[in-house]
Amino acid sequence: MTQRISEITLGLEHTYAEQLGEFCVAVSPEPAREPQLLQFNQELCEQLGIDSQAWNDAVVAKVFSGDAIPRDSRPVAQAYAGHQFGHFVPQLGDGRALLLGEIVDRDGVRRDIALKGSGATPFSRGGDGKAAVGPVLREYLISESMHALGIPTTRALAAVATGDRVIRDRVLPGAVLTRVAASHVRVGTFQFFAARGQTDMVKRLADYVCDRHYPEITTDTHRYLALLQCVVERQAALIAKWMLVGFIHGVMNTDNMTISGETIDYGPCAFMETYDPESVYSSIDHAGRYAFANQPTVAVWNLARFAETLVPLIDSNDEDRAVTDATAVLEGFSDIFQRYWYQGACSKLGLNSLSTQRVVDDTTRSLIDDWFELLGRHRAETTLAYRYLADAAEGDRTPLDSMFPDRVKIDRWIERWRMLHGGRKASEVAHAIRSASPIYIPRNHLVEEALAAAVDNGDLEPFRRLLEVVRTPYAENTKWAEYAEPATSEFNSTYRTFCGT
Ligand code: AMP
Ligand code: MG
Repeated sequence: MTQRISEITLGLEHTYAEQLGEFCVAVSPEPAREPQLLQFNQELCEQLGIDSQAWNDAVVAKVFSGDAIPRDSRPVAQAYAGHQFGHFVPQLGDGRALLLGEIVDRDGVRRDIALKGSGATPFSRGGDGKAAVGPVLREYLISESMHALGIPTTRALAAVATGDRVIRDRVLPGAVLTRVAASHVRVGTFQFFAARGQTDMVKRLADYVCDRHYPEITTDTHRYLALLQCVVERQAALIAKWMLVGFIHGVMNTDNMTISGETIDYGPCAFMETYDPESVYSSIDHAGRYAFANQPTVAVWNLARFAETLVPLIDSNDEDRAVTDATAVLEGFSDIFQRYWYQGACSKLGLNSLSTQRVVDDTTRSLIDDWFELLGRHRAETTLAYRYLADAAEGDRTPLDSMFPDRVKIDRWIERWRMLHGGRKASEVAHAIRSASPIYIPRNHLVEEALAAAVDNGDLEPFRRLLEVVRTPYAENTKWAEYAEPATSEFNSTYRTFCGT
């Protein structure tokens, strides 16, 4: 064991392991046969204040595959439960992940540093605890893209191939992802002890979470109700942001919903191309539980499970009262979601002055509703529609007209939209659209091509180019024209994503 401790330190602290010892188990990562660095996020490394100057690729590969652990790490697997597709599983937990510790970053935010795919833990339930190169690179790419789009998300610090074989439906090369998160506390973390009736434990977790994520409510007399309110607000904002870029998470189980409001767990997720609210890409989501348009409903369902864990803390003497108060907070989700949805849509449509209104007025709302109705009716391309609208604002109607063949309807809509420009120049409106509506998202066919090149041929170039493109999602670059193009409709109609576990 001693030879597996690296010389390096990351500046790790361990508030979770120290304050919530019952919520985790000390576990060492498994050694890797031949660790090899695939990708390292230098910018994030600097943001974390880690001094990596003296490191070489071999050191990085060893440390971020779990082959050697940093001297100041204390790896633990975190316990959690969760509702998976509506069914409660009392014990899930980190079956293939380990928290190395926490770092307070340059902005003073405490961030978890965790390995994913570093081997079995007491929570593995018969699984191998491993991850494969494809899904690891997929999470790297999509989480970094989400970050660049301004959507709260866990991030990727490193991807390392382990040199080990992972057995799935075929033999795959193994890999480990280093995931950075505001924390890994999930709705399912609360459910773990709540399901066992251990309210004292739930309280300790709630207090930890308030201190770490919502310090503004620490002295609140109704802090647990306030905590629910905070999480409802963050999740409503998050889901509106997902949907405004056409993101489908794919597996919104309660163990995949964070308390911090960050997106977590990039399994069967995808960006929708053809606008269709019923879109489902996940191969295991037969009933469409996590379809695009269902995401706000599912979020409330998950938040209701969270609220249930807090009921004994909200009012320990009067359960009915606690339930009534929690229900009122949950009922507020819809209004908050709509506020973020309409404000975000205003920005994307270049109606900036309206996007700052706390309540978007009825005229603007109906204009926005009609826009999405038009997108759905014409099966328009979710991302490019806005960029074509910007072109139309500047007088080039050709791309937009090719997308909306019903000329009369789109003409009428554009007329109403122009009335809300408040006398601003067309170029200003176009600029506003292009600043809020990305041209580059991780297109499903390009993601698959990049992963296939990496896995089948060991060629990381397509992955790296795609990563570079999605990191600057708003500024059009003529040399990247093919990255803006959607897949063929054939590809889209049959595209499926898998859990990759
Ligand atoms: P996920 O679908 O990735 O959210 O994972 C759901 C649960 O299954 C979590 O408890 C994971 O830790 C566990 N899990 C997923 N893949 C594996 C694996 N290969 N080995 C062990 N546990 C796993
Ligand atoms: Mg998960």
